[in-house]
Order: sequence, then structure tokens, then C-alpha cells
Amino acid sequence: MPSVVDLHLHTLCSDGEFPPEEVVRQAAAKGLHTIAIADHDTVAGIPEALECARLVSLRVIPALEISCELAEGEVHLLGYFVDWSPEAPLAKMLARFRASRAERARVMVERLRRLGMPITWEEVEAFAAGESVGRPHVARALVARGYVQSVAEAFERYLFRGGPAYVPRFKLAPAEAIALIHQAGGVAVLAHPLDILDVVSWLAEEGLDGLEAYYSGYDPDVSAQIAAIAVRHGLIVTGGSDYHGPRVSPGIDIGSVDVPEEVISALDGRRRALHDTRPAG
Ligand code: ZN
Ligand code: FE
Ligand code: FE
Repeated sequence: MPSVVDLHLHTLCSDGEFPPEEVVRQAAAKGLHTIAIADHDTVAGIPEALECARLVSLRVIPALEISCELAEGEVHLLGYFVDWSPEAPLAKMLARFRASRAERARVMVERLRRLGMPITWEEVEAFAAGESVGRPHVARALVARGYVQSVAEAFERYLFRGGPAYVPRFKLAPAEAIALIHQAGGVAVLAHPLDILDVVSWLAEEGLDGLEAYYSGYDPDVSAQIAAIAVRHGLIVTGGSDYHGPRVSPGIDIGSVDVPEEVISALDGRRRALHDTRPAG
């Protein structure tokens, strides 16, 4: 039986397969009562999801998943209850990140030109087909021009991390993302933390609010281990499937992770503790 709570869903607004409305409808059809739309580095899908949630009487918690840079690799922070309005500082900040990503691709094009492989920005952009431009699109432009035989070769020779045409992508540090989420009125939760549990005590000091203890592929022992660490640091726990759709994340369905309903009251409580400054009574 599917869970009635799923606090980690992606839509077409980032790398999911379905528009927000469709995701909300699917969740309602499966009998879920609370979900969170948490697209990568964008809140663009939230208005549509909230609109649809009203029609199907399902609670949608506005959220996002921010990619952060850590020496060991990438960590993802979920921000719940953030102010998603397009005029709010969060949306403006996220727009700046997107612009910096496009700028990064332009610098890669310039480096390749200097390496004797002129490709144009227009060629790269055409491969991106409206998505935010990244290394795979640069690689495909190189293939199309015949400078390399395949996308894999483009990465192996020029675009690998530290390679001759590589330009690092701008990312926030985790502490900056936590601050950004808090400034936007949100609650900051470390996503799929199993492989990075050693950073939890440090991030707790930086203001982290919770850990995603229930997640696709985490068996009950793993979830219990993560929940115990959360208790030790005064953090709440949340959970979700990280659904993207059957093509992008096969075998992962909405509500397919068993998330206890109590996470919702803990999450609401954390939000009040952080942000509810209204006088009592
Ligand atoms: Zn994703
Ligand atoms: Fe993630
Ligand atoms: Fe995700």
C-alpha cells in the first residue's frame, strides 16, 4: 500500500517527466494526503501545483531541492515552506544561478575555440532545446562538428572535471543554502543523507533542521540509523521517494516510500519554531 505522505517529488520544471498538475493528480489518485513538490533549484512549478491541489483536496507543501558544493562532491538541501512567489528574493536568487549556468557554458565554448575547435553558442543552445545549457549540449555540438566521435569522447578529452575546456559550475556552499532557505521562511533538510552522515553534526551547527530518513532504497534499519542521528542533533526527519517519472527514475513511484505521517506534524512544528513570530493568543 502506498504511503500517504511523499515529501520529495520532481516535475517537468526541473528533470521530472510530468507537469506539476499531473504529479499532483497522480498523488491524489493514489490516495496521498500530503506531498511536497521539490524541483532542483527552482520554485517554478509551485503555483500550478498549489492551484491543482485545491481542486483535488490534497496538501502540497511548497519546496525545492538546492544542489550544493562540498569538497567530497555534491550535497542536496531540501527547503520546505519557502516563499515561492516570483517577486520574492528566493526566485530572484535562483534566476541568477540559472544565468550563471548559461554564462559557464559560454566560457566553455570560448575555451574550445581557443583549443582550435570553434563551435558557436547557437549550436550549443540548439542542443539544449530550452533546458538550461550544460556540458552534454557542448559535447553534442563537438560531435556534430566532427571534432570528436562521441559525447563520451568529448567528456574524456575536454569536458571532464578539471579538463582543458571544463569550467566549474557555480554552486552554493551548504551553509549558504541553509541561510537562503531560512531567509525564505523555510525549513532546511539534508536530502538522501546516507553517504554523507559525517557532515551532519557540522551542518546542524550551521542551522540544518532535518534529515531525509525515509528514501527510495533505504531499508528500515537505515532509516532508523538516520533517525537516531537526527535525535542526537535535535533535528527532525522527513521522507520522500525522489520521484521523477518512470523513464528518469524507473521503479520509483509516488508514495512508494513508507513515510510515517508524524513527519508532517514535526515539519509544521519546526516551521513554527523557526518562523512564527506572531504574538501568542
Ligand atoms: Zn533530479
Ligand atoms: Fe537529490
Ligand atoms: Fe531529488
